[in-house]
Amino acid sequence: MITLDDVTLTFPDGDTRVTAVDHVSLTAHPGTVTGITGPSGSGKSSLLAVAATLITPDSGRVIIDGVETTGLGAGDASRLRRDSIGIVFQQSNLLPSLTAREQLMVMNELGAKHSRSRRAEAATHADDLLASVGLADQRGKRPHQLSGGQRQRVNIARALMNDPSVLLVDEPTSALDQERGAEIIELILRLSAERSTSTLLVTHDLVHLPRMHAVVRIVDGRVESATAGGAAAASSTGPAPTSATGPAPASASRLQPTDA
Ligand code: ADP
Ligand code: MG
Repeated sequence: MITLDDVTLTFPDGDTRVTAVDHVSLTAHPGTVTGITGPSGSGKSSLLAVAATLITPDSGRVIIDGVETTGLGAGDASRLRRDSIGIVFQQSNLLPSLTAREQLMVMNELGAKHSRSRRAEAATHADDLLASVGLADQRGKRPHQLSGGQRQRVNIARALMNDPSVLLVDEPTSALDQERGAEIIELILRLSAERSTSTLLVTHDLVHLPRMHAVVRIVDGRVESATAGGAAAASSTGPAPTSATGPAPASASRLQPTDA
């Protein structure tokens, strides 16, 4: 679970500062996908960077699984990022020389001890993940041998390699056609449910929003509206995306635009 509590982020802009994120509060629960939408330049990527603990906000708190990340030292913050947060950036950042499987294996080498048995375990885990994103037979291919949609699947599988509780995805469909894009959104919805990730998914493609559990619209860094999405409504008749003891799916994202 991830909570952003009254987060504000500014950047220097000449003699003044530009407010990229303006008093945003939101909570996303395990097994749900919260869509974040809004015009270009409205602060969506900045919001994800704060959620990912890559940027410390000017004020406000980011709480991940009960840990207030804004109070952590550099070492603890990077451990939390490695263990609890999966990130899929807007631009594909796969390494050109590595195969799909190696892109995932690299995640296991970061900052962790790698014994031979751990390596074998990681290879199995990588293969399982590649299978779950539909790339079981592509694992030996390098990025240039894969389509845009397949590269995005590798990105998503890689983000899940350390079994994060929070998944942050920025505009995953921007380089894809409508059909490929819809498949990627479906994949993220399915994986979030299967792996119980609290997922924030930035997209400006409105067509995908009815599939989400909640939708937050950001304008000029502020929450303009926050609504339960189609998936939350649908889940009252189908299997609930959250556990029985968890909060109701309709509250997948609770927001209070805070202007106090
Ligand atoms: P979005 O992802 O919704 O298109 P961004 O979060 O990228 O919006 O940008 C929000 C605002 O913050 C914009 O005005 C942008 O110019 C500014 N901004 C984003 N990143 C930086 C940065 N590193 N330095 C200065 N300004 C930035
Ligand atoms: Mg952006």
